[in-house]
Amino acid sequence: MNPRIFSADPKAGYLAAKPEIDAAVARVLASGTYIHGPELAAFEEEFATYLGVGGVVGVANGTDAIELALRALGVGAGDKVVTVANTVTATVSAIVATGAEPVFVDVHPDTMLLDAGALTARLAQADGPAIKAIVPVHLYGHPCDMPAIMDLARRHGAKVLEDCAQAHGATLGGKRTGTWGDLAAFSFYPTKNLGALGDAGAVAGTDAALLDRVRLLRQYGWKTRYVSDVHGRNSRLDEIQAAILRVRLGRLDAENAVRTNLAATYTQALAGCALQLPVIAPGCTPVWHQYVVRTPQRDALKAHLEQENVFCGVLYPVPVHHQPAYAQAVTLPHTEAACATVLSLPLHPGLGPSEVQTAIAAVRGWIG
Ligand SMILES: *Cc1c(COP(=O)(O)O)cnc(C)c1O
Repeated sequence: MNPRIFSADPKAGYLAAKPEIDAAVARVLASGTYIHGPELAAFEEEFATYLGVGGVVGVANGTDAIELALRALGVGAGDKVVTVANTVTATVSAIVATGAEPVFVDVHPDTMLLDAGALTARLAQADGPAIKAIVPVHLYGHPCDMPAIMDLARRHGAKVLEDCAQAHGATLGGKRTGTWGDLAAFSFYPTKNLGALGDAGAVAGTDAALLDRVRLLRQYGWKTRYVSDVHGRNSRLDEIQAAILRVRLGRLDAENAVRTNLAATYTQALAGCALQLPVIAPGCTPVWHQYVVRTPQRDALKAHLEQENVFCGVLYPVPVHHQPAYAQAVTLPHTEAACATVLSLPLHPGLGPSEVQTAIAAVRGWIG
């Protein structure tokens, strides 16, 4: 029997940089500063430089990054925020946390990303102007059609917050995801392309006033210590995670290149199979957070692969508008079709060539 192959492996990410990560953690432990110190300031600056934005504000996790960024953009009770339903619940949970109402728009059938045509139609509805913000999700590491989305948003007076939790380093027309919208939210959950060894997140942007607002919101609304200017809360990124993220950031491009090679290996080996392979939109360089194939027999394929010790993910099995907490009586045919057919083959920077061949052989064995 093959050794078990998983769709993500955060421990392998740690072991690949163990000496540097151990040294970074030891440095923080010895420093005596554990929250909002020099490691966070350095990481924020280094990540802003990497992205090519004016600034980055570290927060406690990706969900908070979305919520606090939306609040900084003026989103609150009574507002409507457009997003997609084939995303992790966190995107929608963060919108609801601001007091706003999520409005689900369908995805493009090929890319499974927010569809500019469907967005145009939704914005043209009578209550279109009431849409306060749009949250495109760069799902699986594939950039959304940001030029079209920005153009529509500007024409309708809506703000744009990019959900970049799966797209650290991806580009569209040579410009990174996270630099297109009014603000961008990142998660550094351990399995993300840029992962901490615990929870962490960040908001990125270029408007200094907006970033200052996020800085207030992440710590009780304090402009000066112990005096709240606005209603904020605690969403801090600690020094240990910031120091780890600085190490991981230095490896991000190399690890994304490994992901890209693995994706190319899958695409070459599975071309012509009875599976729908990932579609890359023109001008996009994805970072392959997931390698997602599609088949109406998804559950059977997944079960077969598990018997072969190849463990795949399903992102996401139930679209958010069909989940009890966020149920809405809308029909999103392409979103629903995506959720019923997607399967993420194992892909992470720690995956060796022989493991990929094992996964490919297992898939081909099922297809016949
Ligand atoms: C991971 C993720 C989030 C949430 O990030 P957390 O750090 O887990 O709060 C939000 N959106 C997307 C698309 C994600 O993949």
